Amino acid sequence: MPLDFLKRRGAADAAPATSTPTPKAGLMPEEVVAQDHQLKLYYAGKSSEGVRLKAGPAAIAELPTMLVGLARAEIEVVEPLAIEFSQATPTIVSPSEAMQWLNAHHVHSPITRHALVVLESIDAVDLAFDTFVCSLLDGEVDTSGYPEYNAIVGGVAAHWDEATGDMICRAVVGWGGKGVRGDTDRIGARLLANILTNILASQYALGLTSIERPVPAAGRGGLVCAHCGFASAHERAFYCPKCGMRLLRG
Ligand SMILES: [Zn+2]
Repeated sequence: MPLDFLKRRGAADAAPATSTPTPKAGLMPEEVVAQDHQLKLYYAGKSSEGVRLKAGPAAIAELPTMLVGLARAEIEVVEPLAIEFSQATPTIVSPSEAMQWLNAHHVHSPITRHALVVLESIDAVDLAFDTFVCSLLDGEVDTSGYPEYNAIVGGVAAHWDEATGDMICRAVVGWGGKGVRGDTDRIGARLLANILTNILASQYALGLTSIERPVPAAGRGGLVCAHCGFASAHERAFYCPKCGMRLLRG
C-alpha cells in the first residue's frame, strides 16, 4: 500500500510539470546581471580586569574623575536602566525594544549613544547593572557630532559585587562602524591600560579582582530600592544598581 501511494503521488506531482508552459525564447537572458549591495559593519572593543573599590557614595561620585586627562569630550555618566527600560536594545528592527532604548538614551550626547550602540552590541557593558562613565578617547567626530569609525570611545563600567557590596570597576573601550583601520586596536589597548591605571589610582581601590557579573537569586525580582526608590531592570539585583545599597525584601 505505501508503495502504491508513493507511486500515485509521484505521478500526480509529475503531471503539472509537463503541462507547465516553457518560457518563450528571448524573454529570459542566459545570464542574470545582478548588482550587488552590501554593508560591512565592524564593531570591536576591549575590557579590562575588574578593580574592587570600597563601596559607598564617595566611590561612585569619583567615577567621572577616572577619565580626567583621557577624555577628549564631555564626560557623561549613564546610570543603570530602570524597570520600564528593561527591554531596551539598540536594534531598530525590534521597534518596541528600540523605542525603549531611544527613550532611555536620547538625552545623552552622540558620542555616548555611539558608545552604547557599539559596547552593548558586543556585550561589553550591560546597563541592567552597570553604571557607565563615558567619553571620546581618541579620534574625531563627524559634523553631526558622531564618532568616526576609527574613533575610540569608552571609559569605566562599574557594578556592585553581589557577594560583598563592593563596587567593581573595569576599563572598557570600543570603536567601529563602516570601516576598520589597522592601528585602532593598538591605540585601544593603550587607552584601556591608561584607564585601568586611573581606576587603580583611586583612593578607594582595593586591587584587581576577577569579574563576576551579578548572579541570579531566586525570588528577588522586581525589587524597589528602599534607599533611593530606584526600580531595577535587573531582576536579580541584590544590591541597588543605582546607589549600591542593599535591597530589602518587601
Ligand atoms: Zn538605591
